Amino acid sequence: MGKKSHTEAALPRLSVSPRGATRLKNGHPWVYRSDISSADGIPPGSLVSVADPKGRILGTALYSNSSQIAIRLLTSGVVENFPELIRERIRQAIAYRKSVVKNTDGYRLVFSEADFLPGLIVDRYNDVLSLQVLTQGMDSESAREAIVSELENQLSPAGIVERVDPRVRELEQLPSRDSGLLRGTKAETTFTMNGIAFQYSALEGQKTGAFLDQRENYAAVESYAHGEALDVFCYQGGFALHLARRCSQVTGVDSSRPALEVADQNTALNGREIEWIEANAFDLLKDYAATGRQYDTIVLDPPAFAKSRKNLETALRGYKELNLRGLKMLRPGGILVSCSCSYHVSQSDFLNVISSAAVDVHKNVRILEMRGQAKDHPVVLGIPETSYLKAAICHVSN
Ligand code: SAH
Repeated sequence: MGKKSHTEAALPRLSVSPRGATRLKNGHPWVYRSDISSADGIPPGSLVSVADPKGRILGTALYSNSSQIAIRLLTSGVVENFPELIRERIRQAIAYRKSVVKNTDGYRLVFSEADFLPGLIVDRYNDVLSLQVLTQGMDSESAREAIVSELENQLSPAGIVERVDPRVRELEQLPSRDSGLLRGTKAETTFTMNGIAFQYSALEGQKTGAFLDQRENYAAVESYAHGEALDVFCYQGGFALHLARRCSQVTGVDSSRPALEVADQNTALNGREIEWIEANAFDLLKDYAATGRQYDTIVLDPPAFAKSRKNLETALRGYKELNLRGLKMLRPGGILVSCSCSYHVSQSDFLNVISSAAVDVHKNVRILEMRGQAKDHPVVLGIPETSYLKAAICHVSN
């Protein structure tokens, strides 16, 4: 017997094409199905040893038999003990947040590839942790046990909740599961961002959390906001509650009643008054524009219009229409905050859209700040997909 560890000796080997090998060597952890050799007999979700066409080992990866992303590299080295690697990376993810996250007890603790834990997302809402498992490799019993027990050891939360997206499990060909408490007893709590309290309820309503990625943008926007403000696509009121600390009047618009119900609880929690309107934002903006309604601060934070590259053109038209309407309704010296969370819409595409909308309505737009996602949603150089959020804070004049 040689000195090889059992794990290394036992790992199935998978070859990647020259293109796949180049991708890995350039620091991107994904190789698509079209760039791997036959994976016959490799169990779904297993660890594999990855080799280039010449047989040189490039590292160790997680294999999926259903995703178009066939392998996700974990390390360019050898994985001796996968559960131990998970534990170590969770500790590193926590340490990173300790150094960069401020003014909140609500933030993303683990962000998948951006924390070198592909397929694992963990959010912290004060004393409740909410986790999502998105890949076969992270769904094994041993991986799950390592994740949950390490989170418990490090943070002693009052509850750990798993939020299941049935569509993701179906796509990954994983057995269906229900959302629910994995540890502890608590699935509801309040948390704070920038001194504002928010309600979090993991197992009720929309079963989604807050948009933690906008947290630093809320504070930035607050510093420019003034006068009468309109928060379009307000969800549970993230921007609106911040605007309410500076503006004379704030209105939030969303089409989701459950989101607005939480928004209303959040207003009460903070002793504020905000008008919430349940409406289709496109229709409402059209109506308001027709009546000549004007604002001093407008936030546009729509859902991702481009879910894939295929509908990029349609998405850009959607952003253009929204920005046109927003710009029209701003008083001179007003603030427009325009966001896009579509990865497929690049920053330059996005700014071009705002620019052409400004030309159409004869307004001058100056960029005060061009921002992205909060630092607990790290952008990894070499993995463009980790950068998706764009938030342009603009000064608008006639
Ligand atoms: N600004 C929010 C996040 C917005 S997410 C925050 O910081 O928390 C996008 C929101 O758009 C969701 O709440 C969704 O319910 C809403 N939405 C989607 N389509 C809509 C439409 N046509 N009109 C109004 N709201 C819509």
